[in-house]
Amino acid sequence: MRGLQLSVRFRLLGLCLGLFTLFGSTSLLLGYLIERNQAEQQAQQEQYRRFEIIEVVQQAINLFRHNGGELNKARLQKNPELEAQAQAALEQSHRNVDRQLDRLRQFDPASADVSGSALAQVAQYSQQVMDAMVAGKTPDPAILNELQRRLNLVETTLSAASQRERALAERIQLDARTRAAVAIQIAIGMILATAVVGTVLVLLVVRSIIYPLRITTDAIRQVNAGQTEIDLPPISGDEFGQMALALRQFRDGAERLRRLAYQDPLTGLGNRAQLNESIEAGLAAGGGEQLRTALLYLDLDNFRSINDRLGHKAGDAYLCEAATRLRRFLPDGVELCRYGGDKFIAILEDEGDAAATNLRLREVADCVLRGMAEPHRLGNHLLHMSVSIGVAVSPGDGATAEHLISSAEAAGHAAKRSGRNNARFAAGQLSGRLRRETALAGEIQRGLEQREFEVFYQPIVDVALRCVAGAEALVRWRHPERGLLLPGEFIEVAENEGLINALGERCLRIAHAQLRQWREAGLVLRVAVNLSARQLQDGKILNVLRGLRDEDAGAASMIDLELTESVLFDSSDSTRKTLDEIKRCGYRLGMDDFGTGYSSFSYLRRLPIDKIKIDRQFVADMGTSRQAEAIVSAMLALASKLELEIVAEGVETPLQLRLLQAGGCHLQQGYLFSAALPAGEFAAWAASYLEEQALLKV
Ligand code: C2E
Ligand code: CA
Ligand code: CA
Repeated sequence: MRGLQLSVRFRLLGLCLGLFTLFGSTSLLLGYLIERNQAEQQAQQEQYRRFEIIEVVQQAINLFRHNGGELNKARLQKNPELEAQAQAALEQSHRNVDRQLDRLRQFDPASADVSGSALAQVAQYSQQVMDAMVAGKTPDPAILNELQRRLNLVETTLSAASQRERALAERIQLDARTRAAVAIQIAIGMILATAVVGTVLVLLVVRSIIYPLRITTDAIRQVNAGQTEIDLPPISGDEFGQMALALRQFRDGAERLRRLAYQDPLTGLGNRAQLNESIEAGLAAGGGEQLRTALLYLDLDNFRSINDRLGHKAGDAYLCEAATRLRRFLPDGVELCRYGGDKFIAILEDEGDAAATNLRLREVADCVLRGMAEPHRLGNHLLHMSVSIGVAVSPGDGATAEHLISSAEAAGHAAKRSGRNNARFAAGQLSGRLRRETALAGEIQRGLEQREFEVFYQPIVDVALRCVAGAEALVRWRHPERGLLLPGEFIEVAENEGLINALGERCLRIAHAQLRQWREAGLVLRVAVNLSARQLQDGKILNVLRGLRDEDAGAASMIDLELTESVLFDSSDSTRKTLDEIKRCGYRLGMDDFGTGYSSFSYLRRLPIDKIKIDRQFVADMGTSRQAEAIVSAMLALASKLELEIVAEGVETPLQLRLLQAGGCHLQQGYLFSAALPAGEFAAWAASYLEEQALLKV
């Protein structure tokens, strides 16, 4: 059937036609057999009718003879009345005999004729005998003899006819019976044959449909399971061929999507998703000690300066060249992924004892360090590449992808700190760190339940108007044993352990409530609240923000949400949508630590930002570094062009204040004015600041 390649439509049509023909011809045959059987029954009935007619003839003759005898008796008694009666009866029975003979004549004229003429002669001889007897004479024995002969003739003729008809009837009956038996056999045979042929036909057609459906379903399942090397059904000329074609397109589409989801478009290397999957697969295959998974965290040195100096295009080319080199200097079979920005991670698998593995990893790292050191020509520039490497090996440095990566990353940072262009091993410090982090996460959880987190407010002043313009809400942890803790001691762990959402929500609610309280007390301020990247990725923040707006839209409109550029590095459509939605709720968005990311300026164009905050590093360098001052004045120019509010943070000296003010940056925050204060102290500080400024003005 598969070879036939009839379209499914035609196959089904053919099946219907076949079944119709089969059942039709069987019905026709059965009809014919039934009809023939009926005809035979009719013939049989006819035969019995003839048989009856002969019997009736015989009875009529007997009656006729009886009446003849009665007439003779009456004549001998010479009773005219009786004679007349007998005569009438005789004539009537004679007519009856004639009538019955006529019926017999219709199918056996010979017997009818012979009997008729013999009877006529019998009547004639009877008359003569009677006449003699009436005359008192003895009847002529010759006549009596003739009379008897004729009577015998009638009897034998009729009984012969009767026997003939009976024999015929019996034969017809016998024939009918045998034929009926044969007909039943034929009918059963036909029905069985129809059933068998019909079933085979149905099975063949169904198989020809089910088989390709099954292959197709299997193939779709394989594609869904992420396999792309699959057995595809052949492209035939029927509907299944069309399906196979569509399936091929589906497979190609799925493969493309997979590539998009797992491949870094710039370098063609696996992306973070691929990296995680590969590490997890390696760890699962290792199953503990025998097969170790090692990561080389490869962080390019000085990439940021190349990007800033030569532009994005050159930066991209530089990254591609770095990827090519890394691949070239890593051993064959080692998987290399782009971890993000200028960071790559290579995954190695190794067996044997730990010391041998470390030795081998050291060799690989040295080979990469040497290989990367060759100068690279980019346009007119001759660039020196170098990389800082962090090495982590399972299970000592982590038993999950996340922990292994974070160990390698920490080792990489250590390599960077110790002068770049070298490799550092994580050396199992993770387990200790991991333990501490897990314990801290538990503490944070408890702290949230016990309401140990507070919000402090650092004033933001307007140095031109000499007033307090707002405050930044900064979280503090009033730890029962360790005292007041700064965010640096717990924010990162809260982020890594999935607690930042709850913590961030708590701070937002506190700040919102504080804003209402101040407003009621006549203190009108804007409050900046920090939002972490994780909070944005999780859509729940939107519900919280909407809830606060519904509670008090006036207070919500006074909140600025500060994001860092790390939030925006992976800026996806969904981040962008969340930001738009936040803005629609009436909140303002600010970019924190402005200038520390790679492409601060491009985000400004793409995202709905109202405010930028110059990173305190630039402010700190003002007065000592011309470069920092140049960057700050560029930022100020940009902000004024784009009509963005600009705030400087980390203002510590009057010189910084003046330089910033001279550049047009009036909103300032820093220890020069005040550190972050508990809410209760803020109003008093604000009042004393205003007083002080009023005195200065005088
Ligand atoms: P940030 O947003 O850049 O906050 C400013 C940090 O600079 C604060 O540190 C503040 O105390 C400090 N600072 C203020 N003035 C000066 C100054 O003149 N000189 C110097 N050197 N530093 C100054 P803090 O409070 O330790 O906060 C550290 C970081 O923790 C914040 O950096 C922010 O990223 C994060 N953070 C604080 N509160 C929250 C929060 O509620 N949620 C989230 N997600 N992150 C928060
Ligand atoms: Ca901030
Ligand atoms: Ca900041």
